[in-house]
Formats: sequence, C-alpha cells, structure tokens
Amino acid sequence: MMTLIDGKVLAAKMQKELTDKVQKMKETYGLVPGLAVILVGGNPASQVYVRNKERSAQKVGFKSITKRVANNISEEELIEVIEEYNQDTSIHGILVQLPLPEHINDKKVIMAIDPNKDVDGFHPINTGHLWNGRPTMVPCTPAGIMELLATYAIDLDGKHAVIIGRSNIVGKPMAQLLLAKNATVTLTHSRTQNLSEVTKTADILIVAIGQGNFVTKDYVKKGAVVIDVGMNRDSDGKLIGDVQFDAVKDVASYITPVPGGVGPMTITMLLEQTYQVAQRSVRHVEC
Ligand code: NAP
Repeated sequence: MMTLIDGKVLAAKMQKELTDKVQKMKETYGLVPGLAVILVGGNPASQVYVRNKERSAQKVGFKSITKRVANNISEEELIEVIEEYNQDTSIHGILVQLPLPEHINDKKVIMAIDPNKDVDGFHPINTGHLWNGRPTMVPCTPAGIMELLATYAIDLDGKHAVIIGRSNIVGKPMAQLLLAKNATVTLTHSRTQNLSEVTKTADILIVAIGQGNFVTKDYVKKGAVVIDVGMNRDSDGKLIGDVQFDAVKDVASYITPVPGGVGPMTITMLLEQTYQVAQRSVRHVEC
C-alpha cells in the first residue's frame, strides 16, 4: 500500500514547535532570531518566494527583514548591504534570493555572506563542511527531504538512492546527505545514458529536474520511495512536479505530492537553521 509523504503537515508541526522555542528563547535570554532576506530586482517568482519567507519568519516570531534593492545595484553595493548584516548582531541568518541579475557574480556575492550566517548553506565553507561529513549549514531543500525521510522512518542504510539532477541547490548536497546515512548514491543528469534503466534500480528516487511530469512509472521500481522536488507550471498555470503523480503512486511505496510535499519543508529548514544560529550565539555568551 502506498503512503503519501505529507510535507505540509510536518512543516506545520515543526513551525509550531519552533514558535514555542522562539518564545522560550525570548523569555529566557531576551533574544529574538533575526533573518535578513535580500531581493535584487523584481523577478515575479522571487518576489513570491521572498514574501513567503518573510511571512513564515514573522509567524514563528523572528525579527524578519526583507531588503529590496534595485535591479541595477552594483556588485560592490550589494556586497556592502551583506556586510552590514554580517556585522549586525541582531541578524542570525542572511539569504540572498537567487537568481541575481546577469551583471552580478552570484559566487562572489555568496562568498561575501558570513559563513556562520549562511542559512541557505551555499557558502563554499559550508559546502566543504558538508562534503567532509561535518555539516553545519545545509541547503534547505535537501535538508527538508532528510527530515521527511526520517519522519516516515525510511531506512537508508545500504539502500540504493538515485538522484536525477546535479544542481548545487538540490542534487549535489542531497547526494552527500544520503551518503552520510550510508545509502549507496547514484547522481544522474542530462548526459546520463539509459536513465530509466538506472532509476529502475533505485530504492529511493529523488527527482529534481525542473520538467513537469518527466518521470513516468517506467522509471520507477515497484516499492520505491519517490521524492519529487520539481516545481513547474502546466499550460493552465497549475503547479506540477517532475513526477507523473497519478501513475507513479500505483508503483511507489511512499511518494511526495506537489504541492504539499518537499516545498513546505524548504522554508521550514531555513527557519530552523536560523534559530540554530541564534541558539549557538546564546551558548557563546554562556561560555
Ligand atoms: P537546475 O539547476 O535547473 O538543475 C536541473 C538538473 O536536472 C540538472 O542537473 C540537469 O542536468 C538535470 N536534467 C535536466 N534535464 C534532464 C533530463 N532530461 N534527464 C536527466 N537530467 C536532466 O534545477 P534545480 O534548481 O535543481 O531545481 C530542480 C527542480 O526543483 C525545479 O523544478 C525547481 O523549481 C525545483 N525546486 C524546488 C524546490 C522546493 O523547495 N520545492 C527547491 C529548489 C528547486 P545537467 O546538469 O546535465 O544540465
């Protein structure tokens, strides 16, 4: 029998628990976790993502700052904005919403974020820690998927996990997190040959391609766990995943829906990691 992995329910539960922890932190230490989100220009999708992050941060009781800057801001000016938040002790997490305009080098911008406040986990110091098996801050989407797998008690030890997609945001960090839990990991991409032959050997299949309904049931072994990261719009503007949910659900043992699967966990992990930075700052004061 197939089980639906409900990210909406888990995210709501984690955010409720976080609200209580934030309240306790305020009462005990007078400390409020602070999250600064920087949005460059007016990309409509980015505006929606940033608004959602702002609302969720406020809802759990954080200090939430959204810094909106013009599309034509220079790289140097943007780095100055980041520098301000690096120095601001009331800010524990800094996030620069991607993508950035073409005239700005996103690698340089990410490098400018204090690695201790890099709650998106994109700074090379944090990706290095992840590859060395000493994760501090981890990219939020794969971190959220690990929470989902743990909550549904999905055994990873010795299992074959296949990931479709090798982005720095999802595929690569996902591989490392699964490896750390003793899965045998195969990372596939657009040049992989006989993709469906590879994916059909997966006990756990993570799909992060960005093409609506790409994965049919011919890609999935009976009883596999299927995690759909994709967020695409169909011709009617409806949000759909990378997996053909209606067909694959009959083959999978566990599956995430879109929406309501991986998506809600991404913001939750961003909030959780920001809280953890604030908590570490309390421990520093106590020492
Ligand atoms: P991305 O940077 O565009 O990467 C897509 C990956 O898919 C690339 O590695 C690409 O291979 C691979 N790919 C493309 N076509 C393929 C094919 N025909 N066969 C096999 N592999 C193929 O995308 P991303 O940022 O990882 O995001 C992927 C999807 O997840 C998008 O729909 C995005 O909106 C969604 N997403 C959702 C969340 C969330 O919170 N739910 C968060 C992040 C992303 P190459 O490397 O060879 O080009």
